[in-house]
Amino acid sequence: MTVYRFTCVICPLSCSVEVEVEGDRIKEIRGFSCPRGKEWAVEEVLSPKRVVMTVIRVKGGKEPVVSVKTDSPIPKERIRELMSYLATLEVEAPISIGQVLIERPLGLETKVVATRSVEAV
Ligand code: SF4
Repeated sequence: MTVYRFTCVICPLSCSVEVEVEGDRIKEIRGFSCPRGKEWAVEEVLSPKRVVMTVIRVKGGKEPVVSVKTDSPIPKERIRELMSYLATLEVEAPISIGQVLIERPLGLETKVVATRSVEAV
């Protein structure tokens, strides 16, 4: 049996959650104070996801790169692949904050959006 210990990041209460796993089955979850925390802990053990933040090179902009993030968390095991892919790209200025730069990168159910604006030169 394996016990995973997390601090729930869903709200500022930061409950300490423990998940007992036997084989590929969750046996018990303790420490959560609400259903959202329980759901998060299950996902954290079975299929952890993260929002990805990075930069993409910019062509013809006042800045050489633009900061971006995924608009939803993606599976943790795909992060490296996505980062490598984004490192190969170049987007054209002008770019507005919130602009969707890439829809469904690598077939992922997310969008890559700009987190700042870059004016054209
Ligand atoms: S378990 Fe619920 S109350 Fe506790 S930190 Fe997570 S979301 Fe907040």
